Amino acid sequence: MAKISMTTPLVEMDGDEMTRVLWQWIKEDLILPYVDLVSEYYDLHLEKRDASNDQITTDAALATKKYGVAVKCATITPNAQRVKEYNLQEMYKSPNATIRSILDGTIFRTPIIVDSIKPFVSTWRQPITIARHAYGDIYKAVEYRVEAPGKAELIFTDDSGEQRQTIFEFKAPGVLMSMHNLDRSIQSFARACFNYALDLKQDLWFSSKDTIAKIYDGDFKNIFQQIYEQEYQDPFAAAGIAYFYTLIDDAIARVIRSEGGFIWACKNYDGDVMSDMVATAFGSLAMMTSVLVSPEGYYEFEAAHGTVTRHYHKYRNGEETSTNPTAILFAWTGALNKRGQLDNLPALSEFAAKLEQASIQTIADGVLTKDLYDLSNLSQKRVVNSRTFLAEIRKRLEALLAA
Ligand code: NAP
Ligand code: MG
Repeated sequence: MAKISMTTPLVEMDGDEMTRVLWQWIKEDLILPYVDLVSEYYDLHLEKRDASNDQITTDAALATKKYGVAVKCATITPNAQRVKEYNLQEMYKSPNATIRSILDGTIFRTPIIVDSIKPFVSTWRQPITIARHAYGDIYKAVEYRVEAPGKAELIFTDDSGEQRQTIFEFKAPGVLMSMHNLDRSIQSFARACFNYALDLKQDLWFSSKDTIAKIYDGDFKNIFQQIYEQEYQDPFAAAGIAYFYTLIDDAIARVIRSEGGFIWACKNYDGDVMSDMVATAFGSLAMMTSVLVSPEGYYEFEAAHGTVTRHYHKYRNGEETSTNPTAILFAWTGALNKRGQLDNLPALSEFAAKLEQASIQTIADGVLTKDLYDLSNLSQKRVVNSRTFLAEIRKRLEALLAA
């Protein structure tokens, strides 16, 4: 069979540790034999980032702006211990933070659903995608510890003078915090969410606490509502999907009772906390995909998990590992499918869909990596190492391609 051709390069960002090993195997076993891969390769291995003073990360993000679609391997975010381990010139920023600040994107996280792996919430039948606003609030807050009695005030100064409000008259020790957000960032977030809902043809929920934070959360609520009415009401109606705002407490109660199958847009902190809750309740971090979508419509696909350091140390010691490659594989299929859609290459999108189907079939057949073995409710099941797992996917892919 002839290989499937591509036209526009896919931006490929390689990474670190166990995920770098899996990256290579996935390409060798499941992509390169079938696709005439056209990619622009950026190696974000920590040593390569160090050698380029981290310029390579910026270049990779700029290439994503140029071509529109990227696939990224997990990367180490250096801490003091990594600086020593890799003898780094400095403690570089998280590559994801660098890329996100260049693309100004919103991250959508979606679990991969397989019948034999039951979510802890028994009503959930379809994935719940969490969209987390990634700017401001407590992540850019100013904090203060009050040790002695005094008055705390909120002061805003501009050309016309000063505005003051009393926050609290402290008679005893306590704590203070102030935070901000920007309409521009909230607008980008809202548009990314509305666009992604149209992409997935799923309802969009947004929640906040505007009954309490009438101005702050009220701003979020109003911006979403205004953009929806002005730009998205008609396309949503045409796609048969809905936009729905509710209070965060009500949203949580509804999410737990729901069947899934929608996108839940969350403010920064809510998204941070709720994405861990949703990922855990669906089963495994290794079954969670992540895509960064910019307001201009650039896409960067990756797995939600990190570089799986513990498994990498075993692998380097020559021990067998059973690391789950599914979320990384789905980052590849997500990116190839998107390239297929944008470049009008249906064969590429169909291949991506079959590769996803083959992976799900493998898990449904009880051929499992170790993390999935404990979660699967099948009676006939076995653990295989990562490479055998990929070979089993390939068998099923071959059958689907021949059909
Ligand atoms: P991690 O790599 O996600 O791994 C945490 C644990 O989750 C693993 O030890 C493993 O549990 C389990 N796990 C994660 N992915 C798995 C998979 N595919 N298959 C099987 N089990 C899996 O998180 P971390 O250990 O906190 O971070 C390691 C490095 O990754 C850090 O240097 C961090 O900076 C980086 N990181 C990068 C990204 C990114 O690039 N997007 C995201 C997060 C973290 P068991 O050990 O119990 O088997
Ligand atoms: Mg978190």
